[in-house]
Amino acid sequence: MSNANVKKMIEERKKLLLELSTLDQLLHGSWLERYSTCSRKKCKCHRGELHGPRYYLVVNKNGRQKQKYIPVERKEAARAGVKQGERMLEIVEAITQINLQLIKEGAYDNETK
Ligand SMILES: [Zn+2]
Repeated sequence: MSNANVKKMIEERKKLLLELSTLDQLLHGSWLERYSTCSRKKCKCHRGELHGPRYYLVVNKNGRQKQKYIPVERKEAARAGVKQGERMLEIVEAITQINLQLIKEGAYDNETK
């Protein structure tokens, strides 16, 4: 691979890192909408009209899944945060590919920034 291509990859990596720094509302998890019944026996929810949806972000913490409640007034912002989280993973994957290539080219850890 030419020096120009190595330079290009390092430029691309810089761009990705810059974009990464803009993802300040990222949420790493999956979106969950839940409907439920309550404890009032005569409530309509026991005749099929469930309460909800209520919104949750499912996150992994110490290898266990947790459902974190999202207030309805934060729903749109949190959904955008989940999108940012997905973009974060794409960027991490892309940088990994670039760095693997740079390792192959011997240009991984001797480049000046
Ligand atoms: Zn109910």
